[in-house]
Amino acid sequence: MNDRQLYRLRAPASGREAISTVELGKIYVDRETGEEMKPVAKVLPLAPSASSLPRTPANLRTCRRCDQLIGLDVSDCPYCGLRQTAL
Ligand SMILES: [Zn+2]
Repeated sequence: MNDRQLYRLRAPASGREAISTVELGKIYVDRETGEEMKPVAKVLPLAPSASSLPRTPANLRTCRRCDQLIGLDVSDCPYCGLRQTAL
């Protein structure tokens, strides 16, 4: 059982992203640019869950245009750019 929530962290100026657990009061810095990264979203699956892997089959769907498997938590297909319907 995994009880640690994963977050998507983003550096506001460069838009660079990382995925990590987050502890309150800690500052997260992009190791390439030195920018401070802020948590912007929770990554599926939401904790607590049976797995900590964000890309298990239960957390994917198929893009209706290009048929690629994409995460449930992305709003635009990373392969063809199609806006995904709400869940
Ligand atoms: Zn697509």
